[in-house]
Amino acid sequence: MDITSMYLDELKEYMTTLGEPAFRAKQVFEWIHKKQAQSLDEMTNLPKALREKLADNALFVREETRQTSREDGTVKFLYRLHDGNLIETVWMPHDYGISVCVSSQVGCRMGCRFCASTIGGLIRNLEPAEILGQIYASMRSMGKRVDNVVVMGTGEPFDNYDNLIRFIKLLTAPEGYNLSARSITVSTCGIVEKILQFAQEGLPVTLALSLHATTDEERKALMPVAHKYTLSETLAACNAYFEQTGRRVSYEYSLVRGQNDSEAHAIRLSKLLAGQNCHVNLIPVNPIAERDYKASDPGSVQKFKLTLEKNSINGTIRRSAGSDIDAACGQLRRRFEDRER
Ligand code: SAH
Repeated sequence: MDITSMYLDELKEYMTTLGEPAFRAKQVFEWIHKKQAQSLDEMTNLPKALREKLADNALFVREETRQTSREDGTVKFLYRLHDGNLIETVWMPHDYGISVCVSSQVGCRMGCRFCASTIGGLIRNLEPAEILGQIYASMRSMGKRVDNVVVMGTGEPFDNYDNLIRFIKLLTAPEGYNLSARSITVSTCGIVEKILQFAQEGLPVTLALSLHATTDEERKALMPVAHKYTLSETLAACNAYFEQTGRRVSYEYSLVRGQNDSEAHAIRLSKLLAGQNCHVNLIPVNPIAERDYKASDPGSVQKFKLTLEKNSINGTIRRSAGSDIDAACGQLRRRFEDRER
């Protein structure tokens, strides 16, 4: 395993196998997770020979390009991985702090119809260090600390489960960045077994479920995963997540004009979620070039939210951050790769 994905204990063991004193492990761990070092050369308190020995075994991401929104300060980073692959990360300043949206895979195999990230399929899983690296590299270049992390970029985090768990444990390690698990949100298209497994990890992370529909048939038309799991078993798993962790579940609902944004949809959604301690995020769908989905108009979005509220369901309309900079999942990477070709 790369040293940048190792827990402190593993790093200690590894140093021992190299014939190095155990305290080197703590130094390296702090360089990576506390000081957000972007290369081994920065680790100046390590002997040069050791740095050279470790160099082949460390994963860092490198900034390829970035786009900064003139509207709201959102920055979209495109990072290059050691094997040449590209991934996207979004930096979002909010009133309540800075959120970073990270990718969990290169590409995705879930096939959601409205999503640009899945069009080229899954290339590979990201290593824990490559998910962390997005946070550390963006923090370093922006010169600010990150307050919230959302695993909502490219990829299905529960399709890369073990690396996701390791990523969360490293990011929350007291000897490292020490982010509270409560400041992390993991978004899934709804892989039921993994939701149930995640509930057992003892990590108070917020779960976000991409719902986008109110009947099984409508969900199947938007999200292939709905062929595998019914709405009722998906919602039952989310309920179990709440029961187990005490964390209120967020439901993502992208509003597609004329498809899932009517009053009848809002009423059905309220009934589906009735009695659940949850929150609904309403997001007018971000149109992508490859598909013909259009965003609901602002009036319908408002009305949808009011109907939910009348039926005792909390809803927030998510402001569309950085709409001037290809902010929909996977658009920047696709455009950049097209240009390169
Ligand atoms: N695979 C995970 C996380 C990545 S997608 C998941 O499905 O939740 C993050 C969120 O963005 C999901 O809710 C997804 O459905 C939504 N999304 C993807 N493309 C979108 C688009 N073009 N417009 C609006 N929301 C989109």
